[in-house]
Order: sequence, then structure tokens, then C-alpha cells
Amino acid sequence: MGNNRGKFPDFKVLILLFLLLAAGNFLILRSSKTLPIFWFFTPLSGRTVVIDPGHGGIDGGAYHSDGILEKHINLSVALKLKSVLEKNGAKVVLTRAKDESLDYMNNKSKSRHRRDLIARAEIINEVNPDIYLSLHVNAEKSSPATRGPMVFYHTSSPESRRLAELIQARLEEAYYSAGQSVRKRNPLANSTLFLLCNARPPGVIIEMGFMTNADDRRLLRNPDFQNKLANAIALALREYF
Ligand SMILES: [Zn+2]
Repeated sequence: MGNNRGKFPDFKVLILLFLLLAAGNFLILRSSKTLPIFWFFTPLSGRTVVIDPGHGGIDGGAYHSDGILEKHINLSVALKLKSVLEKNGAKVVLTRAKDESLDYMNNKSKSRHRRDLIARAEIINEVNPDIYLSLHVNAEKSSPATRGPMVFYHTSSPESRRLAELIQARLEEAYYSAGQSVRKRNPLANSTLFLLCNARPPGVIIEMGFMTNADDRRLLRNPDFQNKLANAIALALREYF
């Protein structure tokens, strides 16, 4: 039993507030053909995101002598991120959904590595998403203490820079929430990385942590922490849109 009488007015107020917000939202947005009515509640609804899990197949990416390969971490976080973004109403396209390299998709270079990168850029440009995210793990053998996330954007894209800043901050929070102290960084402007130069929509390369740092390596292979990273990126995307 207990005293429930006081709770009903609060509930009604909440319902009323919800209806008012929804109505206001509708009035503001009804002239827009591109934004759905409930944009206020689900900013990712109707957005298209390409997720590019770096490396794959013959190309393991960064590795450690304990057997861990970057390509597996990239794909694992990509699949978790896809699921979170789809629950938020986004349409998600993966450049690869399994352990494969993409060099077979074109014949535009003698270099297998270059063909792989060309394929990724071409998928992004064909899908023409609102944004793309390329997932990677960093490595710095000469400095095993270096750790934490680093996000790269193309120097000439202010939208990519804004996206990079939001993702960088949320990823650092994910590390803090796992009890880790990582150095605060600004995202890095770049004008040489192939994908940043050749993919046309706004987008970023996300180095989620360092393979060469023991703490990062332990976290990056942990499914719970991978979920934290995926949720952090999804939160940044909600802020971006
Ligand atoms: Zn990589």
C-alpha cells in the first residue's frame, strides 16, 4: 500500500511536459522535410553513418606479441557501435562486417594496401553518409607509456573538426569512467592520411587507444570496455547532429 496519492500529479505533469515538448518540436520542425518530428528526442533518426573497421584479413594492423590483433578490436567495436546507432534510429553501413581485407574490390593500384584504402573511400563516397567513422588502434613502440584515444580529422573540414572534438571528449570520459587516467588531448588536424583526403563526407579516424600500452591493451580487448567506447561515440554523435 503506502502513500501513493502524492505521486499521481507528478506523473500527470510529466505527461503534460512531454506533450508540450512534442508539440513544440512539431511546430518548429513541421516545415522541414529532412528532419523527423521527434528529432528533439532522437537526433540520430534518419541519419546515415558509415563505420569503417580498419584493416582485416591478411592485414592485422597493429599487434602485440601476446597475439592480439588490431583488426579484431576494430571490428568488434564497430559491430557494437552499429547496434547502438541503429537503436538510436540511424542507418549504418559497414565497409566490412567480417575478417577480410578490401583490396579485391578494385584494381586501381599495384599496392594491396592502397587498393584496400581506395575501396574504403569508394564505399564511403558511394553511400554518401552524413558522416563516416574509421576505427583503429594506435601503436607507439618507442613510448609504451603513451596511451588513450586520439581522433584525426581533415584540416580543411570544420564539420569533421567539430565531430572529432566531441568524440575525443566522450572517449576520454569512457576511460575515466573505467577508472583510468588518460591525458586530455585535442583532436589532430591532418592533411595526408588517405581516407581523410579521399572520402568526401565529414568524418574522422578514431584511434581508440594504444596497442603498445599494457593498460590500453587490456581494456581494448574487454567486451565491457568496447561497449563503453561504442556508447561514448554514439553519445558524441547525438551531440553532433
Ligand atoms: Zn589501424
